[in-house]
Amino acid sequence: MISADALIALVRDYNPKTNVDRIAAAYDFGRAMHDGQFRRSGEPYFSHPVEVAAILTEQQLDDATIITALLHDTIEDTDASYGAVADKFGDEVAMLVDGVTKLTNLQLSSHETKQAENFRKLFMAMSRDLRVILVKLADRLHNMRTIRSMAAEKQVQKARETMDIYAPLAGRMGMQWMREELEDLSFRVLNPEGRQSIIRRFITLQKESGDVIERITGDMKHELAKAGITAEVLGRAKKPYSIWRKMEEKGQGFSRLSDIYGFRIITSNEEDCYRALGTIHQRWSAVPDRFKDYISQPKTNGYRSIHTTVSGRDGKRVEVQIRTRPMHDVAETGVAAHWSYRDGVRSNNPFAVDPVKWVAGLTEQFDAEEDHEDFLEAVKLEMYADQVFCFSPKGDVVKLPRGATPIDYAYAIHTRIGSACVGAKVDGLRVPLWTRLKNGQSVEIIIAEGQTPQVSWLDIATTGKARTAIRRALREVDRERFIKLGRELARSAFEHVGRKSTDKALSTAAKHLRLKSPDELLARLGSAELTGHDVVQAVYPDLTNKDGEKVSPRRAVIGLSPGQSFERAACCQPLPGERIIGITFRGKGVVVHAIDCDGLGAYEDMPERWVDLNWHSGTHPAVYGVTLELTICNDAGVLGRICTLIGEKKANINDMEFIDRKPDYFRLRVNVELRDVEQLHSLMLTLEADSDVAAVDRLREKAKHPVSAG
Ligand code: MN
Repeated sequence: MISADALIALVRDYNPKTNVDRIAAAYDFGRAMHDGQFRRSGEPYFSHPVEVAAILTEQQLDDATIITALLHDTIEDTDASYGAVADKFGDEVAMLVDGVTKLTNLQLSSHETKQAENFRKLFMAMSRDLRVILVKLADRLHNMRTIRSMAAEKQVQKARETMDIYAPLAGRMGMQWMREELEDLSFRVLNPEGRQSIIRRFITLQKESGDVIERITGDMKHELAKAGITAEVLGRAKKPYSIWRKMEEKGQGFSRLSDIYGFRIITSNEEDCYRALGTIHQRWSAVPDRFKDYISQPKTNGYRSIHTTVSGRDGKRVEVQIRTRPMHDVAETGVAAHWSYRDGVRSNNPFAVDPVKWVAGLTEQFDAEEDHEDFLEAVKLEMYADQVFCFSPKGDVVKLPRGATPIDYAYAIHTRIGSACVGAKVDGLRVPLWTRLKNGQSVEIIIAEGQTPQVSWLDIATTGKARTAIRRALREVDRERFIKLGRELARSAFEHVGRKSTDKALSTAAKHLRLKSPDELLARLGSAELTGHDVVQAVYPDLTNKDGEKVSPRRAVIGLSPGQSFERAACCQPLPGERIIGITFRGKGVVVHAIDCDGLGAYEDMPERWVDLNWHSGTHPAVYGVTLELTICNDAGVLGRICTLIGEKKANINDMEFIDRKPDYFRLRVNVELRDVEQLHSLMLTLEADSDVAAVDRLREKAKHPVSAG
């Protein structure tokens, strides 16, 4: 185990002004607290926090981070309390240790990998101080380095988690070396044969062509020296997992050197970077489109380098990165570099950055393709700003809209849980059901058999799922009451249009609304699942209100028999202005299709069901939904602009759904409510004219038509 003195020496190496006594005190406290605990390998438990601290000294982090590493498992696994840590080491350290403990308690598990993205986001959202993530990553790195002593099943679980959550997180923080090491340690567990095959091919390659790294490094050094440039040349083989992934992605074999070896030229100043580049390009030919200058245009996480790929006489390509020593340091430590201890000076708390702002800041200089992933992450964070992520007692993540209450949570888990809910605990404490949930809270629902939802819950619940379920449950529990109420509502609704709410009217309405009985209709009306307007319209589709306006757009179509209702076919979504034809359905009225709809083929041999129809020639209200499929560039603000354009065209957005998100573009479906085909064409032209819109298509599905019930 690394001794206190040895650890302190590592810190002093980069931070001569370190507070030796505080680190020594943390070391002693941690060791005393973990006394008697052992790791599975048989080593004293405290060897683990010390190794984690040592990993963080490599990133040259400040005293508080090193002390946090030494204490990171004390609150969770020992008798030490938050108060005790705060008393001895101050609030800053106590808060950091507490933050690490919270992340540790998330208890991710392998079957939730589809939620990996949520977890990464949550990590960021929960860690107001990024040092918490730095400690957690170092903790995971040490656990992965020593994973062999764990049970086989646990190894796979931890490796999966590392691959899905921690390695990408390290990448996002700009710590490429850590990302690669975490990936490779996981790869070793998850696919030992795959990894072995890569290593075997490495050995074969080495036998065939000798030590490529040494040869190319030597050549480069020689060229640079000839040009009078002082520089270090570092060559390295990429990690087996990186090579594996590239092979998988490109479906290529193990032949391209540029995918296997990487070379770095470290110069003593910025000017020499460009001189070195010139020298390299003179000697070897540059591969087109592989040159990137991140020195003049640094990445948002501070990364600077010149990237190029060159090919030698034998046509074999290699990647070269050129940078100065300070640039190299940032490239190695990533985000951590911005906060590592320098010159013995520190402001009040330079680490306490808002991670959401930090990630959002990534978008500002977004241009190079490597940044797309960062950008997407930022866009997602923005999109999720109106959501909260909570945990079940088992550690499942439950995503809810902001403002959600334990009732919403309960219904999100299962309708049965929602209906039987009698109380809730948040982070272990009983809370009233109207409590608004916050990010990262763990929620436990207390249920009692035979319990039913309360009417007051309708005011507490915010999600549609919960409200619908509550209404439905209320209706069943209190059916008689709702039927009575519904009867009153129906009476007044019919009276409003000068008609009578007779039994016949109600059963006609029930039939048209496809409900099984008039009582069912009244119960739904009473529980506010239907409006009085819906009921009246089901019986009298052609009524006008006092102002003489059509109560419904049903009259929009000419050619229907009296009382015959119509609906627009979902497959072709015909609009006024388009030629239409109707197909009759027993009990369903007429379904209106565009005359060129592919779906009509299904009715070809049933001429008795075809009805000639025309749109009414007057102006129609903008109530006809049409689905558009848009392909848009993944660029900041484009979504907002599209919404504005649609609004300017006086169309309503009904619904919006992402169907594909690629790094460089989104595909989404937008359902808009329109007046007629003319408005549609004008809207499509406007959208197409936007430079960030690659394509606009009207979605006409080749629907499966029900041929039955003629
Ligand atoms: Mn640990």
